[in-house]
Amino acid sequence: MKHIAIVGGGTAGWMAAVLFAHIWRDFSVTLVEAPDIPTVGVGEGSTPALKKYFDFLGIAESEWMAATGATYKTGIRFAGWSGRADYPDYFHAFDSALDLHTEPAFLYNCDMRRLGIAVQAHPDDYFINARLAAENRVPVPDRQFPFATGYGYHFDAGRLAGYLSQQAAARGVLHSRARVTGVPVDASGIARLQLDSGETLVADLYVDCTGFSAHLLQGALAEPFVSYEDQLLNDRAVVIGLAPESPAPVYTRAEAADCGWIWKIPLAHRTGYGYVYSSRFCSPAQAEQSLRRHLGVTDAVPARHLTMRVGRRARHWVKNCLALGLSQGFIEPLEATALNLVQTTIEQFADSWELSDFTDTQRQAFNQRVNDHFDGVRDYIVAHYLASARRDTPYWQAATAVPASDPLAPLLQAWHQAGDLRLLLKQPQYDRFYAPMSWYSLLSGYGCFLPGDQLRPGSDKANRFPVQTIRQFLSACATHYPGVGSDSTIHQ
Ligand SMILES: Cc1cc2nc3c(=O)[nH]c(=O)nc-3n(C[C@H](O)[C@H](O)[C@H](O)COP(=O)(O)OP(=O)(O)OC[C@H]3O[C@@H](n4cnc5c(N)ncnc54)[C@H](O)[C@@H]3O)c2cc1C
Repeated sequence: MKHIAIVGGGTAGWMAAVLFAHIWRDFSVTLVEAPDIPTVGVGEGSTPALKKYFDFLGIAESEWMAATGATYKTGIRFAGWSGRADYPDYFHAFDSALDLHTEPAFLYNCDMRRLGIAVQAHPDDYFINARLAAENRVPVPDRQFPFATGYGYHFDAGRLAGYLSQQAAARGVLHSRARVTGVPVDASGIARLQLDSGETLVADLYVDCTGFSAHLLQGALAEPFVSYEDQLLNDRAVVIGLAPESPAPVYTRAEAADCGWIWKIPLAHRTGYGYVYSSRFCSPAQAEQSLRRHLGVTDAVPARHLTMRVGRRARHWVKNCLALGLSQGFIEPLEATALNLVQTTIEQFADSWELSDFTDTQRQAFNQRVNDHFDGVRDYIVAHYLASARRDTPYWQAATAVPASDPLAPLLQAWHQAGDLRLLLKQPQYDRFYAPMSWYSLLSGYGCFLPGDQLRPGSDKANRFPVQTIRQFLSACATHYPGVGSDSTIHQ
């Protein structure tokens, strides 16, 4: 029987423990967690991948959502990012089967507007999830409506880790509360783990879920860190929790601020706020005061400060050690992709390992895929800054002047020069997580078009997708989705 030792009991560690125990039922899995090293405990937004995770495990939404105070998430509203008065905000919707009927019109109209033709091309008008967010409807339609809607969740990270630890125990995962104090290495990688309890743990695979410290992959195996700090300036966050809203909105809000941006994440039992900022432009005390002013709360409400290390490991799977979660890397949580990266890393690792155990070829291919995923998310986040016209603070002057990566530069250039962006996005280097719909939503939502007074009326062909038709269609579709709190907010 093979043995997997996971070090770390944050969300990454417990997600991995449950999934490994579920996939490889004949393996033994042990999770070691230092009781005196806290987890990060924030990270309350997901992508639709989290639904697939629980569906794969056969765990009903009604069960885990209730246990973690989770709410539905149809996407993210970005406010104050563009710096263009006509474009104060836009919605980045998770995709849905209905988009097949509206996305072609959206892409076409964006392309027309990029050519200088006065058609309506704001993403809020084209996607069912944007409509559901505006009307605050649950993204699960009634049974008569046969279209799957993509959605994610907001959840309490601490409760999620606790819930997953129970699931892990039910699947036979052993739990050891001890600190790993020694990690001797040999030719195969990690030789064993020495615990402060005096015990020694030997495994076939060691999974590093120790958070930013990367105790195994960096501490023992000295795997280098590839920093993104030249492109992504934010390295701190301060968070405050307030009373829940009723009914809770079905989307995350990300609002640009003087030295970064502020999230708002509605849970069933709390509304979480966080100011993500750059310590080069703002001290922790200033950031905390800014957040308090924004929320209108006094010093009596507690705030928590966090430091973020932004970048990734050069490799994530080295010899017999796999890093997952913050130990493998982190990108500022603007699109809430961290748990998605954990999940896809586990799934790709499981595929690789099943194909050929511990061969170098599998490791190389795997590491390349994970790095592409990380770099692809980074580029999409960087584009949120490069596309902005804000220059109103030293932070925004710096954040909008960062270098674009080799794939990102031509992409932005193609958009601005009315090039064939859709063709470009079909090239393999762009198959790295974000689909054309996301790129188009971002750049049209920012209003990266000619100013309105320079646009010209188009021919009938250019106007063949009138936005009123799409609005009517989505409005009719939305009636199939219940309002939040109208009957039940959790459907399965
Ligand atoms: C400000 C901020 C906002 C975020 N927002 C989001 C979001 O919206 N969506 C999202 O998906 N993600 C988000 N994340 C990321 C998310 O919080 C993490 O990806 C997730 O919590 C996983 O963390 P982790 O388990 O890797 O590490 P941690 O939570 O840091 O857990 C580390 C674990 O390792 C253990 N440990 C450490 N050293 C040892 C040792 N020597 N021996 C034994 N155990 C040890 C600790 O006890 C702990 O249990 C955010 C992160 C930050 C910082």
